[in-house]
Amino acid sequence: MSSQILDGLALSKIVREQLAIRVAALAEKGVIPRLDVLVAAQDPASLSYVRMKRNWAAKAGMAGDSYEINENTSQQELIDKIGELNSNPLVHGILLQHPLPKHLDENEALMALGAEKDVDGITPQSLGRLVADLPGFRCATPLGMMKLLEHHGINIQGKRAVVIGRSVIVGKPAALMLLQKHATVTIAHSRTENLADLCREADVLVAAVGRAEMVKGDWIKPGAIVIDAGYNKIEGRKGDVGDVEFATASEVAGWITPVPGGVGPMTVASLLSNAVDSAEATLA
Ligand code: NDP
Repeated sequence: MSSQILDGLALSKIVREQLAIRVAALAEKGVIPRLDVLVAAQDPASLSYVRMKRNWAAKAGMAGDSYEINENTSQQELIDKIGELNSNPLVHGILLQHPLPKHLDENEALMALGAEKDVDGITPQSLGRLVADLPGFRCATPLGMMKLLEHHGINIQGKRAVVIGRSVIVGKPAALMLLQKHATVTIAHSRTENLADLCREADVLVAAVGRAEMVKGDWIKPGAIVIDAGYNKIEGRKGDVGDVEFATASEVAGWITPVPGGVGPMTVASLLSNAVDSAEATLA
């Protein structure tokens, strides 16, 4: 293997140690950072992500409640709950874990969630702030990616970046954050032609597709920085794999995130970091 590893688990540990110190300082001033979560009760993957987020939050000394949403929850009940959390001064962050049950309108729920408590950075208000270069909470997953680059002193100014995926929670905000750091960015998606050729031009390649090991080693420019947000199961194989075929990609890339242990832990660390920022802002 020739690549250097962008170790998200190791960096997330450093971030979480720093968070615990910040949380302790807030506690001395009578503020306990609190992140409340709304999650679909019937979605095992969401429940397990939320368990991990709550577990890490608790380890850092943070508080938080979870509210399970099920097929009997009405849109009005959801909006009322968000309104209640918005106006509760003890709550510093609200996470609406995607996806919600199908009968609910997720966009309307996100519109109801105030930007001040949107520590996941995925409401239209927060995304608008990102587009406008205004202060605000940034999307946790791409923020985690950017922190990994920053921690390793990787300068992407002037570099050619290709982001595969244009979702609101990963692909689009990742592209905007790379642009903010002066990369020249192309966003690819399911209708992009000659995707492999496009990827071969990328100095920075971000994969946020949801297709196991789609990006092969021969799609990668030698020495490129490869960031893999993917989290996929392959039938009959234990554990999770990324959107990038790590075995072949790591022979070619200069830097690469592993799966697991790359973007995933940095997403959680960034979410918690945003929630602590929100709690600190109440004292400002
Ligand atoms: P979405 O399904 O919302 O978006 C996937 C994107 O990939 C779409 O823009 C789609 O294009 C594009 N796409 C699909 N197939 C292809 C293809 N064959 N070629 C090129 N582009 C394609 O997924 P998310 O953005 O929510 O998630 C992406 C991945 O990241 C998933 O594996 C998910 O599990 C993971 N994830 C990881 C997180 C973490 O914390 N590590 C957090 C969130 C997600 P189109 O728009 O044209 O349909």
